[in-house]
Amino acid sequence: MSKVLVTGGAGFLGSHLCDRLIARGDDVLCVDNFYTGSKRNIAHLLGKTSFELMRHDVCWPLYVEVDRIFNLACPASPIHYQNDPVQTTKTSVHGAINMLGLAKRVKARILQASTSEVYGDPSMHPQMESYWGNVNPIGIRSCYDEGKRCAETLFFDYHRQHHLEIKVMRIFNTYGPRMHPQDGRVVSNFVVQALRGEDLTIYGDGLQTRSFCYVDDLIEGMIRLMDSSVEFTGPVNVGNPGEFTMIELAETVIRLTGTKSKLVFEPLPQDDPKQRCPDITLAQSRLDWEPKVALEDGLKETIDYFRSIV
Ligand code: NAD
Ligand code: UDP
Ligand code: UDP
Repeated sequence: MSKVLVTGGAGFLGSHLCDRLIARGDDVLCVDNFYTGSKRNIAHLLGKTSFELMRHDVCWPLYVEVDRIFNLACPASPIHYQNDPVQTTKTSVHGAINMLGLAKRVKARILQASTSEVYGDPSMHPQMESYWGNVNPIGIRSCYDEGKRCAETLFFDYHRQHHLEIKVMRIFNTYGPRMHPQDGRVVSNFVVQALRGEDLTIYGDGLQTRSFCYVDDLIEGMIRLMDSSVEFTGPVNVGNPGEFTMIELAETVIRLTGTKSKLVFEPLPQDDPKQRCPDITLAQSRLDWEPKVALEDGLKETIDYFRSIV
């Protein structure tokens, strides 16, 4: 039985990760400051002897004894990470330093939840791990993008300098049950709007693309990466290469919910990437991983979840 620390464990992805780790017999310490996460996401785990919850901000040092660390703590949706941008950068950078310092002291393997945002508004399509990105360092998304890029730098420097066992995962847009209904992300917005009979808000012309990965597929990739052989550090893209425009996504949500909602067009936010799609060749070859859940099937699960809470 491994002792596993999950930072950001009460969030959307973190709570699904805790579920999977508990189910396979790990001893899980979930650390969260509840900035965007919720106790409701992990309430069903609270009675289990293999699960422990600690309220803590990763910007501060943390002294615990663990074998493995999944570092997920960070607000992930644009409206959440732009709400307090200084805190977002601190969480990515100070949080990474503290978790790397902890990993160094206890000789734990550590995985970083990085992001496709390190590619910025990409000029290479689809994005491969070797692409260095096209990121604005001073825009409204920079607190998140540059914070995550700096965290990757810290991971590789701790690896080179202190020989830490690191795993860097570049997560592409992921959706599913337990997404925050007010996080402003496109899947949660469209589903909540559709269920309330409100019009679906398309930003810009709606022809920008994203690739949506269902949460179960993503967590499988994350666990495989953590368990992969020691010399494989990544960075590795994990996401679903199926690419959709926001109009296509909106039309699918309208069809699956049976709503009478229409599309309304609103201004495109600053620095909004025009297209995003992962090249997952590396994950396929090194992790024997690829996504299995089709967008429509994942959306049906997500719609059922939002129906139960909205
Ligand atoms: P989320 O907002 O649901 O979860 C983040 C969790 O971190 C929350 O529970 C929040 O309370 C916690 N947190 C934030 N700041 C903290 C701090 N200073 N100390 C302790 N806890 C803190 O978001 P998510 O979608 O679950 O994302 C999890 C991770 O995956 C993030 O690091 C995010 O950047 C990364 N990621 C997610 C996606 C996606 O599509 N969901 C894509 C790329 C990367
Ligand atoms: N740290 C931590 N838990 C530990 C060990 C370290 O939170 O178990 C923090 C510590 O506060 C430090 C950071 O991790 O600021 C980086 O640690 P490292 O040992 O790399 O650097 P140093 O302590 O030499 O600055
Ligand atoms: N978007 C949209 N309507 C919404 C919310 C988002 O058209 O109600 C667009 C947004 O401009 C972006 C895409 O959907 O082009 C994905 O946005 P999200 O915030 O989910 O993720 P990210 O931009 O970080 O990939």
